Amino acid sequence: MGTTLFISDLHLSDSTPAIEAGLYQLLDQQSTLDRLYVLGDFFEYWIGDDDDTPLHRRIIDRLAAVSAGGCDIFLVHGNRDFMLGTNFAQATGATLLEDTTVIEVLGKPTLIMHGDTLCTDDTEYQKLRAVMHDPVWKTNILQQSLDERRAFAESLRTASKEKAENDPGNIVDVNLDEVQAVMSAAGVSRLIHGHTHRPDRHQTPAGERIVLGDWTSQLGWYLEETQGTLRLQSFELPQTYV
Ligand code: MN
Repeated sequence: MGTTLFISDLHLSDSTPAIEAGLYQLLDQQSTLDRLYVLGDFFEYWIGDDDDTPLHRRIIDRLAAVSAGGCDIFLVHGNRDFMLGTNFAQATGATLLEDTTVIEVLGKPTLIMHGDTLCTDDTEYQKLRAVMHDPVWKTNILQQSLDERRAFAESLRTASKEKAENDPGNIVDVNLDEVQAVMSAAGVSRLIHGHTHRPDRHQTPAGERIVLGDWTSQLGWYLEETQGTLRLQSFELPQTYV
């Protein structure tokens, strides 16, 4: 019996060496990892697959090694890394999934998604999301030079830091009617998502809603399906790891 891991919201960047180390440690500890699901915001920003940085190269190499070892990797876009594209997927051996996919977990159909679309009370964000997910907008951005895109990402990043957007208190939580609606439309009794940075397991009228955790400088999170059990776990990040 193999293991399936679900992770999200690592927000990897050049300033997250402990998170990067924790990811490698988590992956190396797995002797029977069959499937790895990354449910969005793996990277803090992704300005295009042509942005070849040492961090990106290290992550791609690790994921490629995990794939080559027989693990299927699936990626869902987050609101920060929604431009992860087919070149990244090819280089890592990962499969890009639509942001609402039904898979089987512990023998039951389970809906997986990043989770930002559940936050319907944040109308300002939903408007911005609609713009940034417009294929024309994406194409236009990707036609800019890397320097231009980097400057754009930096400006978003500065604005985001000023608003402390990664603090759970500043992220609008999911709308429970929307949760109910998407779960019943998908015909599932289990939902797994990230985004809200409020790791927990909730019993709802539609079934169980499992919220993955965001990785901080001290703590990493994962949901593990193994030997008929499903456990939401946190672990202390190593400060150095090779
Ligand atoms: Mn997010």
